[in-house]
Amino acid sequence: MMRLPWFRHESPRSIAEAARILAGEGPHAMLIAGGTDLLPNMKRRQQTPRVLVSLRRVEGMKQVANGQGLTLGGGLTLSEVIATDAVRERYRGLWQAASQIATPQLRNMGTLGGNLCLDTRCNYYDQNYEWRKAIDFCMKKDGKICWVATASKRCVAVTATDCAPALIALDAKVRLVSSAGERDLPLAELYRNDGIDHLARRPDEILTDVVLPDARSWKSSYWKLRRRGAFDFPVLGVAAAAKILPDGTVLEARVALGAVSSHPFLTKAGEFLAGTRLTDEVVAEAGRMVASRAKPMDNADFDVYWRKEVVAEFVTYALREIRGDDTSAVRLRIARRTL
Ligand SMILES: Cc1cc2nc3c(=O)[nH]c(=O)nc-3n(C[C@H](O)[C@H](O)[C@H](O)COP(=O)(O)OP(=O)(O)OC[C@H]3O[C@@H](n4cnc5c(N)ncnc54)[C@H](O)[C@@H]3O)c2cc1C
Ligand code: SF4
Repeated sequence: MMRLPWFRHESPRSIAEAARILAGEGPHAMLIAGGTDLLPNMKRRQQTPRVLVSLRRVEGMKQVANGQGLTLGGGLTLSEVIATDAVRERYRGLWQAASQIATPQLRNMGTLGGNLCLDTRCNYYDQNYEWRKAIDFCMKKDGKICWVATASKRCVAVTATDCAPALIALDAKVRLVSSAGERDLPLAELYRNDGIDHLARRPDEILTDVVLPDARSWKSSYWKLRRRGAFDFPVLGVAAAAKILPDGTVLEARVALGAVSSHPFLTKAGEFLAGTRLTDEVVAEAGRMVASRAKPMDNADFDVYWRKEVVAEFVTYALREIRGDDTSAVRLRIARRTL
């Protein structure tokens, strides 16, 4: 049985108090929300904070402000996000992404903020201490070399958050609060293409809110590739959103990718799609364009070449769903692993 290392637990009641504790403790402290990612990592000694600052009792982390756009508190559990009518009705891509994360039990504990700040993943890193010690560790924790790309100076561990690509396609911002003040950041700018230093968030900052713009006339969709139809982390996440005029012309569009690099990112497909109609040819070309940007590494599940190949297909599923095709049979095939 893997045991947690010793740590001190702080349970502040307000965002200001949490920010004050974080600032005072410095880099040895970490926030804990649902703990569904951090606690397993601590048991494997991948992350070893001396102080945990819990967000569970912090007031103001669970707000839902529904106006022209939508603001979601970073402390909402994924189950609460899914149960929010505005998410289901107007931000379908986010609803689909959150619904496909882990299991109902984990979604009852895991939060939106924790999901967006999730650690990156790698087959050589997500192992217990003894396993990692047997290979002399790796650059991400306790070692010097990257076992995936031995000549690389950079860790290429993979982003595994499902909500991030969906929210990037929806043009979301995040609010970061510290004892020094607060700032709003486009979500895409929260991430860096670096498996170790993967967040632009400072250690003393709390992600308090996700701010979504008005999504009227927009449609969105999220498609996830994983080994099992439930439970598994993504090895590919494709998120698309488009504002479509009544005559079928795309006014604006965004296509984002997750799980094929150290950061979730926006592709150039949106620029290509603007002004077009989502014909089969346009959709196929967008798929090819996005696939050329995906550079999966051999540190996650499935054959790396197949994972790259399948990107184009997943983009076409997302865009076809947005144009109104019935894609339920494809979703079922993916869930049953008969792709
Ligand atoms: C078996 C299993 C399967 C999983 N499958 C998936 C999956 O398919 N897709 C997926 O996306 N995730 C998956 N997860 C990961 C995890 O359950 C979710 O991402 C969850 O939403 C994490 O939220 P949390 O509140 O539990 O985060 P925590 O574990 O509490 O924290 C995660 C990280 O975020 C930081 N953090 C937490 N809240 C904040 C905040 N408000 N501001 C700043 N930093 C913060 C913490 O310091 C920590 O670094 C899985 C986990 C397990 C154990
Ligand atoms: S990508 Fe390399 S450095 Fe990063 S976790 Fe994997 S093996 Fe370690």
